[in-house]
Amino acid sequence: MASVQTEVLVIGGGATGVGVAWDAATRGFQTILVERKDLAEGTTGRFHGLLHSGGRYAVKDRLAAEECIHENFILRRVAADTIEDTGGYFVSTPWDDDAFGDEFLRGCRDCGIPVEEITVAAALEEEPRLNPAISRVFTVPDAAIDSWKLVWACARATKEHGGRMLTYHRVLDIIKDADTVRGAKVRNELTGEEFDIHADFTINATGAWAGVIADMAGCPGVEVLAGKGIMIAMNHRLVNTVINRCTMPADGDILVPIRTVSVIGTTDIRIKAPDEPEVTRDEVDRMLDDGEKLVPGFRQARALRVWAGVRPLFKDAKAADSGDTRDVSRSHALLDHHQRDGMARFLTITGGKLTTFRMMAEETVDKMCEQLHDKRDCRTAIDPLPASKDGNFYSLGERLVKREETMHHDQLICECELIQRRKLEDVMAQRNSTILDDIRRSLRLGMGPCQGGFCMYRATGILHNVEQIDNNAANKSLHDFLQERWKGVQPILYGDQLRQARLDDWIFQGLLDVEHLPHNDLAEHDGQPHDDLAEHDGPSA
Ligand SMILES: Cc1cc2nc3c(=O)[nH]c(=O)nc-3n(C[C@H](O)[C@H](O)[C@H](O)COP(=O)(O)OP(=O)(O)OC[C@H]3O[C@@H](n4cnc5c(N)ncnc54)[C@H](O)[C@@H]3O)c2cc1C
Repeated sequence: MASVQTEVLVIGGGATGVGVAWDAATRGFQTILVERKDLAEGTTGRFHGLLHSGGRYAVKDRLAAEECIHENFILRRVAADTIEDTGGYFVSTPWDDDAFGDEFLRGCRDCGIPVEEITVAAALEEEPRLNPAISRVFTVPDAAIDSWKLVWACARATKEHGGRMLTYHRVLDIIKDADTVRGAKVRNELTGEEFDIHADFTINATGAWAGVIADMAGCPGVEVLAGKGIMIAMNHRLVNTVINRCTMPADGDILVPIRTVSVIGTTDIRIKAPDEPEVTRDEVDRMLDDGEKLVPGFRQARALRVWAGVRPLFKDAKAADSGDTRDVSRSHALLDHHQRDGMARFLTITGGKLTTFRMMAEETVDKMCEQLHDKRDCRTAIDPLPASKDGNFYSLGERLVKREETMHHDQLICECELIQRRKLEDVMAQRNSTILDDIRRSLRLGMGPCQGGFCMYRATGILHNVEQIDNNAANKSLHDFLQERWKGVQPILYGDQLRQARLDDWIFQGLLDVEHLPHNDLAEHDGQPHDDLAEHDGPSA
């Protein structure tokens, strides 16, 4: 069996794992990251899109609040290109206790979160769709952050420092030598090839799946509670500021503007297993009702898509028997398996938030350096990520400015997201992937109001050409994409969205008869491991 040698092996390609790889590589460690699917296909690609100011936790979870504001300031410097500086409001609705605002103010001030109370009139002037019955409004430095752009920027920085990202590589087992972890046995999920990665140090950053990998290493009892949350993308940017309800964290109390849409969320329900969390009609209904409390008429906008993510919440004593995962601290857990289980050269990092991913990575790599007796300084709070060097935040109008120069000479493939043919071809060539869903995450292709109705069949033809795949493989890729999209649309089929879904269905089934196109069971692939670093352009709705 083939084998590969490295200094550091990181397992898990969400924000945490990619952050660890970025940090280790920039400290000069030879680094390989393995991810069983594409980067950010776990919780990181299914989150709410909020760069927390910490306001949400200021009353209930002081530590989490302080970590959030600390990292919020750092990420604005080193990852500016992934952030839209929308600002945030905390508003007291008629369903909230006005007096909570005083506790909130005190909590924010104690945690160092810049906060100011403004008049309701001033808030309504900025955000006219807000419920006019709100009684108090506070401003905080919340923002929208694009997790896909972020992980791929970290991946590019890792690569620039000699690191490798092996996507579609699943860890099957951990290689041990008595009381020391020596790497992992992995399988390339696209080719079936299995090989060993021998590593001087192995870091488990698999989020909600961390307990499974720890078990493989002979470190039992790593219990990561799976807290399911659903989010719904509405087809308009109903607000331009992140809107939070000024109350103890509850369901459906945050509305985040993300590019051309806005996303309401979220719930927090403990589930048994983190894979394929289900969304029920009842959850959708309740979430839409919560939207009405913030923006009257919310239900009249078209709900584009619903999805669920699973929070990795490391269990502490307080939450041991509680069914509500909201009671578990949002702070993270770094497990030193040498100390805990007598297993050397192995750490687990889990829990936390996307907002705190960089800090979690820094702590983890510091701990690794300590155990290797090899102190090296962290650079990730200092050196900006690629594309963030000029310090400019992302702005919505930017895409039109960027496209205007070339638009007249280039075919427009996706009208919602203004993606032209050349950009799509470039990304397809860089990603070296025949999976249209990978391309979607790279460019936000098919994620606007038509949900792929008009761009996906064009994109399939281009994929066929760029990747030189046969017709069957191209058909299979389109078929798989439509199946995946359907999962997110099916629970919200009502009103205008039902009409849109019928139109899309008419295009794909009525005109193109996609269901009966010949397609392979397995799309053909060139057999190369995925080690790809495309320029990423899309956000996370
Ligand atoms: C509903 C919801 C909303 C949220 N909203 C926000 C928000 O607005 N702001 C914020 O800051 N945070 C938010 N969070 C929290 C944040 O999204 C998570 O804390 C963060 O994304 C976790 O990242 P991670 O890398 O630890 O886990 P993940 O992103 O889940 O990454 C773990 C990876 O490990 C991989 N993996 C598992 N097993 C294997 C294996 N055997 N081999 C190889 N790879 C494997 C998985 O495929 C996965 O990609 C939200 C969470 C949820 C659930």
